[in-house]
Amino acid sequence: MSDRTPSDSRQESRFPLTSPEGLPVDAWRSSTPRRVLVIDDNPAIHSDFKKILVDSPLSAAASDRVADAAKKLFADALQPANKDRRRRSGPRFELAHASGGAEGVEIIRQATEQDQPYELVFVDMRMPPGIDGIETVRQIWEIDHRIQTCICTAYSDRAWGDVLDELGTSDRLLILKKPFDLIEIRQIAVALSEKWRLARRAEQHVDQLELLVRSRTADLQRAQVLDRLTNLPNRRTFQQRLSVAVQQSEQDPDYRFGLVFIDVDRFKLVNESVGEAAGDELLRIVGNRLGEAVRLTDVVGQNKSSGTLVDDDERRPSHTAARIGGDEFVVLLNDLTDDDDAEVVAQRLCDVLSEPYSVGDKPVAMTASLGVTSSVHGYGTAEDALRDADAAMRQVKMSGRGNVAVFSKQMREESRRRARVETDLRGAADRGELRVVYQPIVRAGDGTLAGFEALIRWQHPNDGLLSPAAFIDTAEESGLIGEIGGWMLDEAAGAFAGWLSRDGTGLAPIPATLPSKNDPSTLPVAININLSRRQLLEPDLVERVAEVQKRYNLGGGRLKLEVTESGVMENPDESVQRLRELRNTGVRVVMDDFGTGYSSLSCLHQFPLDCVKLDRSFIRQLGQRDDYAAVIEAIVTLTKAMKIDLVAEGVENLLQWDMLKDLGCDLLQGYLFGKPLDPDIARGLVMLPTGSQIIDGRLATADDFQKPAVSLAA
Ligand code: C2E
Ligand code: CA
Ligand code: CA
Repeated sequence: MSDRTPSDSRQESRFPLTSPEGLPVDAWRSSTPRRVLVIDDNPAIHSDFKKILVDSPLSAAASDRVADAAKKLFADALQPANKDRRRRSGPRFELAHASGGAEGVEIIRQATEQDQPYELVFVDMRMPPGIDGIETVRQIWEIDHRIQTCICTAYSDRAWGDVLDELGTSDRLLILKKPFDLIEIRQIAVALSEKWRLARRAEQHVDQLELLVRSRTADLQRAQVLDRLTNLPNRRTFQQRLSVAVQQSEQDPDYRFGLVFIDVDRFKLVNESVGEAAGDELLRIVGNRLGEAVRLTDVVGQNKSSGTLVDDDERRPSHTAARIGGDEFVVLLNDLTDDDDAEVVAQRLCDVLSEPYSVGDKPVAMTASLGVTSSVHGYGTAEDALRDADAAMRQVKMSGRGNVAVFSKQMREESRRRARVETDLRGAADRGELRVVYQPIVRAGDGTLAGFEALIRWQHPNDGLLSPAAFIDTAEESGLIGEIGGWMLDEAAGAFAGWLSRDGTGLAPIPATLPSKNDPSTLPVAININLSRRQLLEPDLVERVAEVQKRYNLGGGRLKLEVTESGVMENPDESVQRLRELRNTGVRVVMDDFGTGYSSLSCLHQFPLDCVKLDRSFIRQLGQRDDYAAVIEAIVTLTKAMKIDLVAEGVENLLQWDMLKDLGCDLLQGYLFGKPLDPDIARGLVMLPTGSQIIDGRLATADDFQKPAVSLAA
């Protein structure tokens, strides 16, 4: 290997260096002797060849000249083969001899079989009684078409034209007239064997290029059908397969398919916290789990339409798992037996995907939301089926994630409605379609006004007054909540500040020292404004809130922001930090809907809070189930110990008020004291003399307490 040129070693890094015949390249490239066969019936000729090619090689200089000539003749484009070696000595030859055509052909055959090809053959034209030179060459070429051939003819032999007629024009054929000069023989032998070797190299080069092209083409083809990250089919491939399934379901009433749409929950957050590379790794694991689960899924027992026994492999349906977007995956379940099968499989996939992950040494908890649809809905296109599975997945996202939902017609309606809402909601604030209503919050002890919760309404041009349930989720999903929330903050804070000025000429002076929390009657009237989970993450939230607070002079606890526990839990570290910053500006933080979702008492210690709002569901059960009273009492004890306020929501009757008062709740909110009120009415409540009791959105009268409690229920 010592005489390889640098370009050789470059090639080696990409390709194994073997010749087309499978020989190591050096076997025919470098210092190995050049294999020459002489076929002649005259023994004297053989000894001449031996003398000139084997026994007395020419001087190195003469040999160089010959090799250079050969190079010029045949190999301008190719690298000089063996520069170094050539300088040392002329090429060596290995001679074989045959005294007749048939014997020569046999030698070539064996050599070819043993992968020891001859490079050059000298053939005498006339070798009676055997076959002549032309026939010999023809047979040799049948065995090895690459061999260089020199036919030696005497004067009386056949003409050049005849030879060409018989064998065809070829660059592997040279005709040499006898008697010949021995030097000439040497030159021819060097030149033609060199030509043979250069041709081999060129051939190898082409083979290598072909290999390269083939592998690149395969790469490209793979990229066209497979997802680079997970090696699962990509969107395009999946759509094709789904289209086939859709078509088949249209033609064959017995054929059913299922489609599962999978979205990894909160992947963006996970990705940000573990880093992009680990995020990719997680997606790969998700892909693997899906691919594996689908491979092992055999939801059909036997192909129903054929009804015949088929072997196992044939029976196994070809389900397809694919990645069709960043953290979106899909699974096509082919040839289902039962309409419910898809849901069963989806549930299994959901379980598989919620098992713990680990990237590096780090454990990562992750779940996915899965939407399911099937051919039951009679799809005409793959897009329709995908859209519905996606809609079902979205349903899961909205109701808490990490679960499975099966598509229904109502969902289609719902997703259309959402799309409409999103369009209409854009710019609603600027067009003056949004309103704020204010629900009183009273002190549990005496029913006097402690504040309001501002609640949004949308005066839709066609659909009338809409409650937040009809559009807040869409606003959240579409990001419109930023605009709406900003409007709400300004509107509610501004209106409330206006009422506090009482005579409308300016804000009431706020006491220099805050009233003591233990004396409820001195608590300032406050405005509660809801913050959505998305608003909580807005980078300029704190700045905005501080600005509003300053503009309307709402320091000292007059502005309270309500956040939900699930909203905070979505991104606990950042949210907690944000809540701290908010409190530092002087606003109060209220935990809304406490007791729903993941709720845990321990979260009260973890979050920076001023107040907890007990969810309506607790109050509804109060008086019906004893254990609820016990739970509320525990929460009261805890919040008292932590010195945070407790508001009970959804108080609808006097009985509930009584019980909550006895249990030790500080503040109450509910229809009993007032439904969400128009600004003018709310303002009227602020104007009432200190100590006024509020019932049903107005000043309470003695009558209100005479009536039986139930009749006061909303
Ligand atoms: P929430 O913050 O829990 O607000 C309380 C909801 O309970 C209000 O519904 C209110 O009208 C209702 N409610 C109050 N007392 C009673 C009662 O005694 N009985 C019954 N059955 N219901 C009562 P609303 O106004 O429809 O608001 C629904 C939800 O919409 C709110 O729940 C809040 O999560 C959200 N929301 C409202 N306004 C805004 C806003 O400006 N921004 C954000 N991000 N969300 C808002
Ligand atoms: Ca609220
Ligand atoms: Ca609430």
